[in-house]
Order: sequence, then structure tokens, then C-alpha cells
Amino acid sequence: MKNHTLEKLLSDIGIEYKAEFLEKLERFYFLLTEKNRFLNLTAITEYDEVMRKHFADCLFVLKYQKFYAGQRVLDLGTGGGFPGIPLKIFLPDTEFVLMDSVRKKLKFLEEVFSDLELKNISVVHGRAEDLAHSEEYREQFDLVLSRAVSNLSSLSELTLPFVKTGGRFISYKGDNGKVELSLADNAISLLGGRVDILNEYVLPGGDRRCLIFINKEKKCPMKYPRKAGTPAREPL
Ligand code: SAH
Repeated sequence: MKNHTLEKLLSDIGIEYKAEFLEKLERFYFLLTEKNRFLNLTAITEYDEVMRKHFADCLFVLKYQKFYAGQRVLDLGTGGGFPGIPLKIFLPDTEFVLMDSVRKKLKFLEEVFSDLELKNISVVHGRAEDLAHSEEYREQFDLVLSRAVSNLSSLSELTLPFVKTGGRFISYKGDNGKVELSLADNAISLLGGRVDILNEYVLPGGDRRCLIFINKEKKCPMKYPRKAGTPAREPL
């Protein structure tokens, strides 16, 4: 019965799926809401709302971005696993790294990986400002995704250093995306990025959202990101 809602939602927005993906999303809903009683992972817990505002929203990027096997994708500030977990369920051959500064959330996500038998997915604990200066992660990702972490200007300083030249950063935003973008122009070009396109979409039920696609054209100067906390306090 419940699965039916999810099926309808995905066919309404035009995303293809296998039955197994829906089962895994349902199971993730269960694990998320169960853990949310002890750990702040999501502000919304009602079934229909989670399906629309979290799951459908996270998956919308599949309509605009091509993913492929072997591609390395970073979800920065993943929190309860958004957009990383729903996307991983739909993209079994793509490699995902889920990063967050709160260890307890990552421990939960590792439980989810094992419960849902997700392969080729791992977590990294720490602040983006620090991790972006380690050789292991700097300019190592084809794609960096981020949802609900901070304003686009400070967020670009956290995300663009992780993107390979020729790769992309995709920012999930609400209906204020255009305004944020106009304030982030300077930061994006200082960091080696160039705005490609802003795609607006409407979630079933009416909420307006957008995805901002930023291409990494040049290497990011080594002085970025600045030390932890500075990008948010003093956006470029
Ligand atoms: N992306 C999720 C969570 C948003 S809440 C969603 O869409 O629901 C923001 C998350 O980003 C929190 O879990 C927080 O711990 C993490 N975060 C914020 N600043 C960060 C930083 N500088 N480095 C790493 N993680 C950060």
C-alpha cells in the first residue's frame, strides 16, 4: 500500500526504478525515523512528507545529471544521508563518499549501508575545511553534491576544493536559489568554478526547489578553504 505512494511519486516526476529500490527506500525510512527518536537526523518524519520532501527531492537530480559506473561522488554535509543514501540506492555502480562533522550520524549511516547491503559507499568524518587540505580528498571527486548545509557562497568554498578540474558541484537549494547565486558569483570564480545552469523544479505537492550546477574549470587556490568556521563567518 505504502509502496504505491512511492511508485506514483517517482512515475509522476519521471524517474525509472526497480522494485528493489523502492523496498530499500522504505527500509531506509524505517531506520531513519527509528533512529531519529535519539538523534537529530530529520525535522520531518511523517511518511508522505519524507517521501516527497526528502526522497523525491534528493532523486530529482537524476533527471538532469548523468551518473556512471566508477564515478566518484561526494555528499558533503550528508547529515541523515541526504542526498547520498537515496541516490546510492538508485545508482549501485557509482562510488559514494558521505562526509559530515558529526560522528554519531556517520555511525548510523554505516548501519544503513550494512542493513541495505549497499556496496561502494563509505563515510568520512571531519570538517570540510580541514579535509579539503588533505591529499586524499582534495580535487579527487568527479561530482560533489550538497543539500541544506549553508549559503551558496560559503558552501562553494567548502565544496569546490574537492572537485577535480573538469568535474562538477551540484547544490540543492530551495526557491531562493537565484538570490543565493547572485551573492555567490565572486566566490565561485575565485574558487575555480563557473556556473553552468540553475534548474528549477516543483516537488509533487507544490514545493519549489532548484539545483545549481557549477563546473570546475580551474584548480582551486591552495589558500581555500580558509580555516574551520571562516567560510561561514566571512563569505568570500
Ligand atoms: N544534507 C542533509 C543534512 C543537512 S544538515 C539534508 O539535506 O538533510 C547539515 C549537515 O552538514 C549537518 O549534519 C552538519 O553536521 C554538516 N556540516 C555542516 N558544516 C560542515 C562542515 N564544515 N564540514 C562537514 N560537515 C558539515
